Amino acid sequence: MPAPASAPGTAAAPRPPFVLALDQGTTSSRALVFDAGGALVASAQKPHRQFYPQSGWVEHDALEILARQTEAMQEAVAAAGISPADLAAVGITNQRETAVVWERATGRPIHPAIVWQCRRTATECDALRDRGLAPFLAERTGLVLDAYFSATKIAWILDHVPGARARAERGELLAGTIDSWLLFHLTGGTVHATDPSNASRTMLYDLHECRWSEALCDLFRVPRSVLPEVRPSSGVFGALDASFLGAAVPIAGIAGDQQAALFGQGCFAPGAAKNTYGTGCFLLMNTGRTPVRSRTGLVTTVAWDLGDGPVYALEGSVFNAGSVIQWLRDELHLISAASECDRLAESVPDAGGVHLVPAFTGLGAPYWDMRARGTITGLHRGSGRAHIARAALEGIAFQSDDVLRCMAQDLGAPLAALRVDGGASVSDFLMGFQADLSGVPVDRPACIETTAFGAACLAGLATGVWPDLDALAHVRATARVFPPTLTEERRAALVAGWREAVRRTLSDDRPGRGEAPSP
Ligand code: ADP
Repeated sequence: MPAPASAPGTAAAPRPPFVLALDQGTTSSRALVFDAGGALVASAQKPHRQFYPQSGWVEHDALEILARQTEAMQEAVAAAGISPADLAAVGITNQRETAVVWERATGRPIHPAIVWQCRRTATECDALRDRGLAPFLAERTGLVLDAYFSATKIAWILDHVPGARARAERGELLAGTIDSWLLFHLTGGTVHATDPSNASRTMLYDLHECRWSEALCDLFRVPRSVLPEVRPSSGVFGALDASFLGAAVPIAGIAGDQQAALFGQGCFAPGAAKNTYGTGCFLLMNTGRTPVRSRTGLVTTVAWDLGDGPVYALEGSVFNAGSVIQWLRDELHLISAASECDRLAESVPDAGGVHLVPAFTGLGAPYWDMRARGTITGLHRGSGRAHIARAALEGIAFQSDDVLRCMAQDLGAPLAALRVDGGASVSDFLMGFQADLSGVPVDRPACIETTAFGAACLAGLATGVWPDLDALAHVRATARVFPPTLTEERRAALVAGWREAVRRTLSDDRPGRGEAPSP
């Protein structure tokens, strides 16, 4: 639905020029129009279907995605009430790793898109692991050998569609992530390109040499000729074909969704991090100009390239975050709405020694125990609903803090700032507790559409809407900062309590112990 909006606290009319952000996500395609002041003017959202042809397999119809993205873009521009000629630029951000293979001549996909969640190539990954290639791949790509990334997905399509491999060798086919798929079509089939933030999620991109790797292409059997040209994340990729909006607007920014959010949050300096509190948490920390190799199982990735070389990031995730609140609501019936959890948490001075470790699907960094299952520890006769609700919210912050500590350890420098977004970041209690626990101010922006805003920033930066990073830093508005209030001693005591609860949660036989597992 188009949702007219303006930046909180500003009654001013939207200011041209405008920037259109296309946010192509796993479940829907969105389009958002921002004005020169960074205010959201209008948006539209179109869901697309999910296909599960076999257990563990996930596919999308790439043509449906293109159609929905086109509708969203047209609706958003109409809802903004602006002329397409007032659009200075288009930015693209996208679900990452999802792979598409299509015909160069017709633009038609030869197979459904294989989605990042799809596990169909897990056996190929196991075979590569058995050959001892995981350390080499981690060193070259910054990634953990896993079916999640694009390389084995592209190879699978080439191997399973009759004649595809020969056609690829003849130069008849193109392959890429969703950004490249959209870019190709939005430019009328004239541009086949991507940016380093997306390229660095394929397992074919050399993180150090900043180019497609011949060795990796050979290893994964992906012909170099199908791959897009890698260009800076901020810069003109081509012009939007006039058939879409009636104006040839430059497409001037591309980044994968998590990296776009890091940029949209203004995390431009090393040590600056963002945490997206959704169903799970996605944490990224800017590590500056050198790729930092993680010793804790995190992923190293390109954050963006503004044309002067790559900026890198460390990435980690928490498997269960907002899902814990849903669990309290839907399974335990302890609360009737997510916001009730906050009120309950705030009704007691502390969790009364209760810890909720939501290891529903195992525990990630730094424990890496896929067999662990959730626990509630520290219960006593006086423990009540409010303590459990509080422990659930605290558990989200404790898990995020574990990942942030890994990042700081890998980087060799403390966390400089934490900026937050996502559905659960509305919880004042959770944000305040995170600030106390991690000992850093937690900054919640006025506009929580940070992913789309990041894509708009990359595109606006390339087209003069914003002159430089300083200008962008001022465009992003903070709504509230949660300052840390605890002493170091008190923080250490909290962490010790959490670690003890985690110790009781870990499985006895931990086969994956110490191994870098699936992201
Ligand atoms: P996703 O993009 O992963 O679907 P969202 O960013 O939309 O997630 O966030 C939804 C999550 O936020 C849900 O899991 C929900 O439990 C959680 N959430 C929403 N409101 C609150 C709240 N007030 N306190 C804690 N968690 C909340």
